[in-house]
Amino acid sequence: MQDTTHMAPVTQAYIDKEEQYGAHNYHPLPVVIERAEGVFMWDVEGKRYYDFLSGYSAVNQGHCHPKIIKAFIEQAQKLTLTSRAFHSNLLGEYAEYITKYFGYDKVLPMNTGVEAVETALKLARRWAYQVKGVPENKAKIITVEGNFHGRTLNVISFSTDPSARNDFGPFMPGYVIIPYNDTQALEKALQDPDVAGFLVEPIQGEAGVKVPDEGYLAKAAEMCRAANVLFLADEIQTGLARTGKMLACDHENVRPDILILGKALSGGTLPVSAVLADDEIMMTIKPGDHGSTYGGNPLACKVAIVALEVLKEEKMAENAATLGQYFRDKLNALHHPCIALVRGKGLLNAIVIRHDNPDAAWDLCLQLKENGLLAKPTHGDKIRFAPPLTITQEQIDDCVAIIEKSLQAL
Ligand code: PLP
Repeated sequence: MQDTTHMAPVTQAYIDKEEQYGAHNYHPLPVVIERAEGVFMWDVEGKRYYDFLSGYSAVNQGHCHPKIIKAFIEQAQKLTLTSRAFHSNLLGEYAEYITKYFGYDKVLPMNTGVEAVETALKLARRWAYQVKGVPENKAKIITVEGNFHGRTLNVISFSTDPSARNDFGPFMPGYVIIPYNDTQALEKALQDPDVAGFLVEPIQGEAGVKVPDEGYLAKAAEMCRAANVLFLADEIQTGLARTGKMLACDHENVRPDILILGKALSGGTLPVSAVLADDEIMMTIKPGDHGSTYGGNPLACKVAIVALEVLKEEKMAENAATLGQYFRDKLNALHHPCIALVRGKGLLNAIVIRHDNPDAAWDLCLQLKENGLLAKPTHGDKIRFAPPLTITQEQIDDCVAIIEKSLQAL
């Protein structure tokens, strides 16, 4: 493997500063990005790359989408924050827009993805006590192995990833963890009358784009309905056109009782997340019970409306479906011995690397970087390939050629 870690002094200086003054809670590729547009990013040395991570699916609409940035700038010059102590002229408009867009009675706006997950879990518990009639402090939430829903203490309480949990205990009780993609295990867990909800990612993104069997989501949702348990879908990474439909649940015509969105809701401009549900669930939360200073701020409201508009106007779900299939077909056609598996839906894809060297996935990402494509390994041997949904067929061809060339160096 050729050494690809040699860095120009300018790049090294940025990295050194980050290392010295920033906490070491990430392990980034040695590249320093300075600007981006559409599917491309440029580093501080002026080199151009295809972005095959899209900010972990936060920039589905492409970097610095002109319509989103225009709305952002115009709103930023007018009004950015009122807090929820006062009304803004945009929260109602946004709430109407997003609830009609996804077909729910109400939205509860938050900022980061994990806050939206926390909100959804609180809603499920409230509903369990106030509507379902679960005895006080007995409510349980079913979650699955390999999940990723964020990093708060509560959310890592039901993580099965040791690096997310080690030395962070004690953890929050009230979670039951079952295997993913296993309706028999779900059926058993649902027999407990104190279960409030079942929280699931329609495709497990962080776990390496694990796609469940066809029919799993529909069956799970049906079983939850029969057991009077809420079906909570974390579509923070899979939603907003990424998998070839507006929501990954749409592939199986599943309407979650609680829908959790984040990331691309702002097209990568600021943290905007949302929880959608009907009144029976949402109205269990009363003034003062839950909130966030920035949640529903006017800048976020404006940007989110436009970010959602752009997804439909530019038919991004359709593009993700067509080009995702095209991309997987082309990768499979490489028949490369180092690619054990290609999997995904739409433009949320991953390859599993087969190699004696345990660092092969990382090395391949370094090689991809050298050749002008940025992607990041997850869980050792998997590399996620998730470009902005504005990518063209010609660009995909270009990227597959880069991947093929980089594989040769393994
Ligand atoms: N849920 C899923 C499925 C995610 O992929 C992520 C982030 O990657 C989160 C929740 C957490 O979102 P955030 O990092 O914005 O808190």
